[in-house]
Amino acid sequence: MLTTIPLVIIGATDLAAAFLFMYGLKRMSSPMTAPSGIFAAGIGMLVAVVASFLYVFTIGEATRPYLLTNIGLAVVALVIGGGIAWWSGKRVAMTAMPQMVALYNGMGGGAAGAIAAVELFGGKAQGITSLTVTLIGALIGAVSMSGSLIAWAKLDGVIDQPWRFKAQQLVNALALLVTILVGGYITLATQGTITPIVSLPMLIAAFFVCALIFGILMTVPIGGADMPVVISVFNAFTGLAVALEGFVLQKPALMIAGMVVGAAGMLLTLLMAKAMNRSVSNILFSNFGATVHQKQGDIQGSLRPVDAGDAGIAMRYAASVIIVPGYGLAVAQGQQKLYEFVKLLQGVGVKVRFAVHPVAGRMPGQMDVLLAEAGVPYDLILQLEDINDDFASTDIVLVIGANDVVNPAARSDRTSPIFGMPILNADKAKQVYVVKRGEGKGYAGIVNTLFYAENCNMVYGDAQAVLIKMIEAVRPLGQAAA
Ligand code: NDP
Repeated sequence: MLTTIPLVIIGATDLAAAFLFMYGLKRMSSPMTAPSGIFAAGIGMLVAVVASFLYVFTIGEATRPYLLTNIGLAVVALVIGGGIAWWSGKRVAMTAMPQMVALYNGMGGGAAGAIAAVELFGGKAQGITSLTVTLIGALIGAVSMSGSLIAWAKLDGVIDQPWRFKAQQLVNALALLVTILVGGYITLATQGTITPIVSLPMLIAAFFVCALIFGILMTVPIGGADMPVVISVFNAFTGLAVALEGFVLQKPALMIAGMVVGAAGMLLTLLMAKAMNRSVSNILFSNFGATVHQKQGDIQGSLRPVDAGDAGIAMRYAASVIIVPGYGLAVAQGQQKLYEFVKLLQGVGVKVRFAVHPVAGRMPGQMDVLLAEAGVPYDLILQLEDINDDFASTDIVLVIGANDVVNPAARSDRTSPIFGMPILNADKAKQVYVVKRGEGKGYAGIVNTLFYAENCNMVYGDAQAVLIKMIEAVRPLGQAAA
């Protein structure tokens, strides 16, 4: 009875937590409901963590002497982990979000690997099913951890070049094979089928080292441009590892949370790959993101810089304007000024809309969140498939801090690394203004032929500074309709 009641409460809270995870995830599908979705999922996690302390009422005599120490350690871990997460979450810049996700994901993979390590080193994983599931979870968790850390280092600029060498795929395949063989050897040794040549703890340690090395080897050749997709793949891995360890420990909350994360990560990966018109295997095993050698002679036309104020005034007298935001807008934190400028245009009757590309910025949905943060109404924000046909009949397109997502080479240049990626048809508008600081390339590292087109002008400067100049030029013209 004494142990039944806590177990019933834990079961009920696990169910409540699982419901909150799924409800939260559902609400995260729209920027309008996302904050409440994140809150709901957070409450779910809190409920599951607090309820797990009820396990103290279910422990056996053997563990009782360690009870206070273990509770103390759990509380210290929660305070340290929760404190760091709270502090870093508060101060992280919008543009550094992918790095943070990579780091947190690595920690998740590491946690799954650590659970597996406790099971394996403690000799708790016995029986073929339990051993196999624990080892698979350990492998995926460890790969996800070391791979995510490399992804973090790449996104943060700590590692700035992909590391590639001859026969790399073969070396990677061998590393995976060795890890699997060591895992198989551990299974046979634990089952007593064979007598291991080294001690079991040594074998388990070797297994983890091999898995961590494979995670590093798998990630180092992948180019920076593909890192957000890679993080998403590792996110799916982490979810799977957590779900497997949840199965081993027979903890439904872990299983469900892991499966939800795994499924969400996998769906996100597929969506991102689709938006780039590439397969997941092409992202993981091709050399996209390598330095692209383009000759300046390949580009027709010239760059035509114009003054920010003149560009602003041109938009003030236009009938319709489409704004294409990109990564540079997030870097400049220009979203508030952009919406201030848009309201001035709307005040004189200009029809203004935003066109968001699915992979604009460095994370899916980054532009939607950025615009929502500035208070832009959702009905003004249109996705690629809903607005792409309207560019041709639009007076002016303002491309602000975006580059790859409006590069016409994706349509016509078979040699381009972004060939086949659906792009926003900005080049089809009557007039295009591109705001960027200089000759900097986009994430794919290629020249944008749009910038050299007849109907395109460049407005050089930081996006926020340019928008301030546009506002200053347009505001004195008053609110009288054009
Ligand atoms: P890009 O990375 O193509 O271009 C951003 C542009 O912003 C640069 O050319 C840069 O030029 C300019 N810029 C940078 N800072 C500023 C600033 N302060 N003010 C004004 N301009 C600035 O961005 P896009 O959003 O167009 O494209 C996203 C890219 O990221 C795509 O290649 C996509 O495939 C990739 N990617 C995105 C993912 C996602 O989920 N969103 C996932 C994986 C990849 P300059 O230096 O001259 O200012």
